[in-house]
Amino acid sequence: MKQYCKYHPTRPAHWHCDKCNTARCPECVEARDMGGHHQGEKLHMCPNCNLPVQWLGVENIIDPFWKRLPRFFLYPFCIRPLLLMLGLSAVAALLQGPGIIGLLALLAVWGVAFKYAYAILKSTAGGNLTVPELDAQTLYENFAPVAKQVCIYMAIFFMVGIMFTKLGMAGGIVFIILATVFLPAMIILLVTTESLVQAINPMLFFRLAVRIGWGYLLMVFFCSILGGAPALLSRHAIQYLPPMLHVFLFTLVKIYYTFISYHLMGYVILQYHQDIGYRVDFDDFMDEGTQADQAMPAANDPANHLLNRVNQLIKDGNHEGAIAEIESETGGQKIVDPLLSAHYYTLLKITGAKDKIGNHGLNHLDMLVRENKNAQAVDVYLHCLTSDPEFTPNAGALLKVAGLLSATGRNKEAMTASAKSLRKLDQIRR
Ligand SMILES: [Zn+2]
Ligand SMILES: [Zn+2]
Repeated sequence: MKQYCKYHPTRPAHWHCDKCNTARCPECVEARDMGGHHQGEKLHMCPNCNLPVQWLGVENIIDPFWKRLPRFFLYPFCIRPLLLMLGLSAVAALLQGPGIIGLLALLAVWGVAFKYAYAILKSTAGGNLTVPELDAQTLYENFAPVAKQVCIYMAIFFMVGIMFTKLGMAGGIVFIILATVFLPAMIILLVTTESLVQAINPMLFFRLAVRIGWGYLLMVFFCSILGGAPALLSRHAIQYLPPMLHVFLFTLVKIYYTFISYHLMGYVILQYHQDIGYRVDFDDFMDEGTQADQAMPAANDPANHLLNRVNQLIKDGNHEGAIAEIESETGGQKIVDPLLSAHYYTLLKITGAKDKIGNHGLNHLDMLVRENKNAQAVDVYLHCLTSDPEFTPNAGALLKVAGLLSATGRNKEAMTASAKSLRKLDQIRR
């Protein structure tokens, strides 16, 4: 059964702390660079116990690919890939023809389509299940990976020719079947090693397929259905349409299936990354549910990190611990983050820390007045007054509170506040 983060119940947990028996998401652990030989690798610690946490494995974070097949089909239905698919198909349809222009258009259309498909594969494999941007980098910068893929296809084509002449019809067909089966392994190798030589090395792609196991065969099965679908569709349906529309629809469907199969291959890399030795940093994991802006700012930003840590302690019911954490992290300095200030104030209030509340109350009240949080400002003022009758905020805040009190009909308190503020102003003048 999948484990979810104790503090973020909708997020799958990535780690488990055996000491305090809690499952945690990336936001709820501390990541430390291991340094030395392991530069760049991270050690994840439980902030409660200050001990390394156990990785729950990829299966706790993502579903196996066969459980999410419908979502692969929906993947290209996002604005960016959709625009690209329609645009490329329109270019192919408008510029089609037997001449040089038609040929160049075809090359350009498929060059860009494969470039984007490769970006899909790469980002999926790296743990980002959202669609890549439509920018220079994904569309037309650095065509080397596309060229390498074309080399793979050409190498296969070349070998098929040799096999047919050397082994005859039967041998040729067997070779085509083998090539179809191992093509995804070659592309996966190309992505993970970025080397064409390794990608077409039979020893390597055979070993890769064996390591993935029966999941590999299942993927090949889906990929070959996806590859065959456009041809089938073309033969039985869209060929009866006018030529331009035929080319448009055929290209559209073919690019659509290309994107899906590349997304699928990327996902297989992600799912089996440990078996095939591909490093994935799951701290950056992103799927349709994780928005880019909320992906991982928390862990990098110290203010957010502290806030998150305090939230955990509060959820654990450890109020004293939360207070201690805030005090040690801020080192007695004034708290500038409004949310943290509010947390600290509430914590002091519920733990009945009368000695500290007056002091922090001054700072917190100033902040509330600055943000025009009037009702809260009045509450804080009145509460601080009950724990310390001599509580005297800064002049500006006091005047504002006096005004707020009289506006809400609490004249007695308003009078006291006004008198205090006059006295305070008097002191300042002297
Ligand atoms: Zn722990
Ligand atoms: Zn969490």
